[in-house]
Amino acid sequence: MPPNNRLPDSRLKDDCFATDRECLTHAEALALLKAQVAPVVDSETVPLIAAGGRVLAEEIVAPRDVPLADNTAVDGYAFSHADYIASEGRLPVAMRIAAGHPAGTALAQGTAAQIFTGAVMPPGADTVAMQEDCRIDDGEPPIVNVPPGLKQGANRRRAGEDVAAGSALLVPGLRLRPQDVGAIASTGKAEVTVYRRLRAALVSTGDEIVRPGNPIAPGQVFDANHYLLSELLAAANVAVSDLGVLADDPILIRERLAEAAASHDILITSGGVSHGGEDHLADAVAALGSRHLWQLAIKPGRPVSFGQIGDCVAVGLPGNPVAAFVCFLNYAMPVLSAMGGAGFQTPIPYRIPAAFDFAKKPGRREFLRGILERDADGHMVVKKFARDGSALISSLREADGLILLAEETTSVAAGETVEFIPFSAYGIAERTL
Ligand code: AMP
Ligand code: MG
Repeated sequence: MPPNNRLPDSRLKDDCFATDRECLTHAEALALLKAQVAPVVDSETVPLIAAGGRVLAEEIVAPRDVPLADNTAVDGYAFSHADYIASEGRLPVAMRIAAGHPAGTALAQGTAAQIFTGAVMPPGADTVAMQEDCRIDDGEPPIVNVPPGLKQGANRRRAGEDVAAGSALLVPGLRLRPQDVGAIASTGKAEVTVYRRLRAALVSTGDEIVRPGNPIAPGQVFDANHYLLSELLAAANVAVSDLGVLADDPILIRERLAEAAASHDILITSGGVSHGGEDHLADAVAALGSRHLWQLAIKPGRPVSFGQIGDCVAVGLPGNPVAAFVCFLNYAMPVLSAMGGAGFQTPIPYRIPAAFDFAKKPGRREFLRGILERDADGHMVVKKFARDGSALISSLREADGLILLAEETTSVAAGETVEFIPFSAYGIAERTL
C-alpha cells in the first residue's frame, strides 16, 4: 500500500447501516457493523519512539538475526564441550571477553575464556559454565575447575534465537504494544509505517447541557459526556475535535456537521437519540447523509444510531452517561478498531464466579457494572454494583468492568460463573482505589 495516500472516496457503501429489523440483538448489531465498516487506509511513517499504540501498516521482516551472534547468557567460562569432557573439567584460562568486545581470535584448543553476559562466544567455544559454579586455581595461567554434568550448548544464546533474519516479525493490523516496539527496536529499525490516527468529532446535544466552568441553573446538566467520551477516544488513540454543545439552531447544526464530516473519520454525538421532536441534530445527519436508529435489545442504552455523511461514520450514543459509556465500549470501540486498521476487535470475556444473586428479564442482554473482589480463599469473584440506576456515573467509577448476562439468562446465583470484561480490555487504566 502506498504511504500517505488517501483513497479517493466511499469507503462505505451507500446507506450501509440500514436494517429492516425493528429490534437488533447485540450479536446482530455487531455482525452488521463488522460487515459494513471498512478501514481508513492512509498511512504514515513515524519514528519508533512515537509508534506505541499505533496500528502497524507494514509487515516488519527482521533485517538481521536477533541476537546478531552467539553469545553468553551468564558470567562465567566458555569452552568447547569436547575439551571439557577430555580434560575432566580442568581448563587453563587463556582469554577474557567482555560484552561489546568480541575476541579477535579463536579460542585455543584445550583452553577456556573468562566471559561476561552478552559477550560474543569466541570461535571454538560452544558451552559456558556459570562463574558461581566454578573454582579457580591461581597460577600462570589460572585453571578453571568446571563441575561435571554440563550439557553441550549450556548457557549459550544462539544467533537468531529470538528472531531469525528474514522472518516476518510483525504483521499489518497489529496495535503496537510496548513489547512490539521493543522487538522492532531490537532489529535496528528506527521508523515504522502505521495507519494514520483516526479523527473523531465529538458533539453533545441537549438544551439542558452546560459545559463545566459555566454557571448552572435549575434544569441544566453539566456536560459529563464530552469528557467521558474524549477520554475513551484518547484511550483508543483517536484524535478528538470538540464541536461543543449543539442546541437548537437547525441551520447552524447542519453547517457544523457538514464541515466536520468532511475532515473527520467519525462523528460521535451523545444525547437526543430518540424519536423526540426536539432533535435537529438527528435530522441534520439524515439530511446530509443517512441515519438509522437502531433499537438494541440491551440494557443499559437501547437506542443507538448509525449513519454516514459521505465517508464519515456518524454514531449517535444515548445521552445518559452510563448508557453512552456502555454503548461506546460495545459498538463504537470495535468500529474504531476496524476503521483504524486493527480489525473489528471485541474482547474475549473472562468467566468469573458471581458473588451476587440476580433476577433478569429474558430477551435482552444486560451489562451490569462488576466489581472484582477476593473470596475467602483469595480467588477472584465479581460482585455487582449495588444500585441499579443507569444514570449513576458512580457505578462506572466503582466498577472494574462489565458483567455480561446473555439474552436467555433469567437469573444468576452466587457461585455460578458469569462473563466479565475488564475495562482494561478497552485501554482504560485499572482502578487503584
Ligand atoms: P437524551 O438521550 O438526550 O434523551 O438524554 C438522556 C439523559 O442524559 C438526560 O437526562 C440528559 O440530560 C442526559 N444527558 C444528555 N447529554 C448529556 C451530557 N452531555 N452529559 C451529561 N448528561 C447528559
Ligand atoms: Mg436530550
